[in-house]
Amino acid sequence: MIKALCKNCHQWTNRVGLETDRCEHCNELLDEHRISYRKVKHKIKEKSESESLLFVREEDSEKTRKVKRFLVYARVLFFILLFLVSAIIFLSHG
Ligand SMILES: [Zn+2]
Repeated sequence: MIKALCKNCHQWTNRVGLETDRCEHCNELLDEHRISYRKVKHKIKEKSESESLLFVREEDSEKTRKVKRFLVYARVLFFILLFLVSAIIFLSHG
């Protein structure tokens, strides 16, 4: 147990150390800023994922989903090939 000062009622309260810890006196979250920061971070990640062209959405048709999955796969394959080709070039010149 750690003692923490509640920002809401300004009384000392026991806490476990989790970001979900609440004040014993007023039940206020002790780490509200930490939780909201995490939520914002999560939202930004979700947003960038959903804005990606290759993100498979629920409303996509079966054909669109297949094309997107193929493109994701092809992109990975492209980088692997790029790596292999550059490795071969590097080795053959060494
Ligand atoms: Zn309090």
